[in-house]
Amino acid sequence: MTNSWACGGCGMLNGDRASCEACGTSSPTATAADLAVTAMHDAAAARRAQVNEAAGGNHELAALLGRVVDAHLDDALALRSLEVV
Ligand SMILES: [Zn+2]
Repeated sequence: MTNSWACGGCGMLNGDRASCEACGTSSPTATAADLAVTAMHDAAAARRAQVNEAAGGNHELAALLGRVVDAHLDDALALRSLEVV
């Protein structure tokens, strides 16, 4: 997962991610494990944004970002459950 690839959904060029940063379409070569890693990265990024917004007093936006974090974590956990044991 080190080569960049063009998204089949929106055409955006993505770097070291298993799913498109813009629209979430999976890379043609991504495995469930790759997608779980990307979902965890996205959850971490949303969490950082949430903490920053809360620190800046934007509690409404921070609360919304909290839901984004939860959604990414749900994705990551669901994808991990798909990994072959
Ligand atoms: Zn896309």
